[in-house]
Amino acid sequence: AKEKGRNDFQIFNTDMKSVSINRLKLENELRKALAGNEFILFYQPQVDIETGRIVGVEALIRWNHPERGLVSPNQFIPFAEESGLIVPIGEWVLRAACKQNKAWQKEGYPMMPISVNLSMRQFFQHNLKGKIRHVLEQTGLEPQYLELEITESMTMDVDHAIQSLLELKELGVNVSIDDFGTGYSSLYYLKKFPIDKLKIDRSFVRDIMVDPNDAAIVATIIAMTHHLNLKVIAEGVETEEQLNFLHQNRCNEVQGYWFSPPVSATDLEYMLKHGM
Ligand code: C2E
Ligand code: CA
Ligand code: CA
Ligand code: CA
Repeated sequence: AKEKGRNDFQIFNTDMKSVSINRLKLENELRKALAGNEFILFYQPQVDIETGRIVGVEALIRWNHPERGLVSPNQFIPFAEESGLIVPIGEWVLRAACKQNKAWQKEGYPMMPISVNLSMRQFFQHNLKGKIRHVLEQTGLEPQYLELEITESMTMDVDHAIQSLLELKELGVNVSIDDFGTGYSSLYYLKKFPIDKLKIDRSFVRDIMVDPNDAAIVATIIAMTHHLNLKVIAEGVETEEQLNFLHQNRCNEVQGYWFSPPVSATDLEYMLKHGM
């Protein structure tokens, strides 16, 4: 993923000699973007497979660039991670997402958790718990309405990860493991992690109707989550056939283009009022 992220920067540089200059330029641009409020959040519904209702949303950042228009996170998040800018950007995301969810609650929309992606640097940041508690207090959002998504790679340092997760649990927020199945997390340790939910990676869901191995993997992950008393959501659901397979295999929730791509707050509000 790192390699891919790097190639994405080519929209910012075509000439290898200017790579470092362009990195500086991008870093400056990202700082300006933060200060100038050029980031926005889109929201993708998470749907209860039994009821078909929206039971959560994932907040996904976009960069509303003055010249380039909406820039996808794949084009700047990997760089933000390398440069450390992901920490202030991630804090902006966290605050904006909590604020938006609280605003929806006040406007009378159904209460539901908002999921926020945490980067590795944020997850292992000193005083993560204090920072999140501060944002919750500032925005007035109750902790059960915030869900943090970490990836499997962040659980490699098992002891450190368990310690960070326990702090988050003490706060009362939910934690899910994103892109599950793509990393190397040990099934042995999975039961030791105080987490709430697994998100089955899109790459497995994509091929469940064509690749019996992927179908078996997805069915197995779902069965395992039930045994471990975890919730499970499938990402990247694009077809009705995939949805039916996931339903038959008792997946709890689904997220994907079949229901909706990530949309603006206004579009999400429309869906909450009128259905998808
Ligand atoms: P992710 O966390 O795995 O998010 C899911 C990505 O899959 C989103 O891409 C979403 O638009 C896309 N997606 C959802 N449903 C479907 C589908 O049915 N088919 C296909 N083909 N794609 C689908 P997006 O918004 O471009 O985000 C890409 C990645 O950027 C995210 O992957 C996440 O790793 C990162 N990202 C986005 N926002 C943030 C953020 O606020 N903080 C951090 N640290 N990372 C973020
Ligand atoms: Ca995610
Ligand atoms: Ca994911
Ligand atoms: Ca991903």
